[in-house]
Amino acid sequence: HAKEAGNRYLFFSDDMNKQAVKRLQVENLIRLGLKEDYFQVYYQPKMSFETGKLVGMEALVRFVTPQKGVVSPGTFIPIAEETGQIVEIGDLVLKKACVDMKRWVDQGLIDGRVAVNLSARQFNLPNLLQRIDEVLEETGLSPANLELEITEGTVMDSPQGAINTMYQLRDRGIHLAMDDFGTGYSSLSYLRKFPLNTLKIDKAFVDDSKSDIGKAMIDTIITIARNLGLSTVAEGVETVEQQRFMADKNCDVLQGYLYSKPLSAEEFARFARAEINF
Ligand code: C2E
Ligand code: CA
Ligand code: CA
Ligand code: CA
Repeated sequence: HAKEAGNRYLFFSDDMNKQAVKRLQVENLIRLGLKEDYFQVYYQPKMSFETGKLVGMEALVRFVTPQKGVVSPGTFIPIAEETGQIVEIGDLVLKKACVDMKRWVDQGLIDGRVAVNLSARQFNLPNLLQRIDEVLEETGLSPANLELEITEGTVMDSPQGAINTMYQLRDRGIHLAMDDFGTGYSSLSYLRKFPLNTLKIDKAFVDDSKSDIGKAMIDTIITIARNLGLSTVAEGVETVEQQRFMADKNCDVLQGYLYSKPLSAEEFARFARAEINF
């Protein structure tokens, strides 16, 4: 009996160990990456359907390591969230995005907004506003060229505090987008109290835009946005059919592989230049 139980215990513990070891490895790799500058920022274009023009882009972090190649955000972001390293990563993404955007605005390449994802931990930092002010001042970027994407989970943790922070960001002229809208639990009564500019329709809904239910969901989200005076962005648009459907529904901005995958800064500059000459 003892042996059996022992084996079972060992098996269980081995499994947990593997996970813990993997976590620790990623955590260590992140620490190294922060020191050695392995984090890069890629940019995915956002297109206005009405004008067909490039109106902005989403900054997406890429973890490029000599040890493990490119580690996807899906792998390291959840771990960085747990360890708190996401704060340093997020800060670096914000800084790089503002530096790049400032240069492109000055060069006349783009006159929209760069959207930076904020994690819950970052959003809830007591010095968030101070840090954002510092970055804007250091880089010289106008707040009118910055947008922040936050999720329902982030603001629903403590909605009253979130509303406060959001107003202070909005007062600076920074735009706010609710990311992955419809995938978390959001309360409609709170939604109207949040000083948002934009609802981002999650890729999952766009993927499902062939089914009747999927169509109805997108319809509903866009109607909510309209009624609240918010603009809409559809993410993950991959096909012309999806584009046509979203355009029929008057979705304002489209983002997805149909237009471009996320691009390195150099590639993005080329993309933007080609758009201007088009
Ligand atoms: P998200 O904010 O919902 O970002 C959209 C994701 O969809 C990105 O994945 C983007 O590359 C992908 N995507 C866009 N269009 C298409 C498409 O047409 N087809 C397909 N298959 N995918 C498309 P990515 O870059 O892997 O990022 C995944 C998630 O990681 C993001 O989801 C976001 O939650 C998080 N993330 C990425 N960068 C950052 C960051 O700098 N800070 C924070 N806090 N989170 C980040
Ligand atoms: Ca996002
Ligand atoms: Ca999403
Ligand atoms: Ca429109």
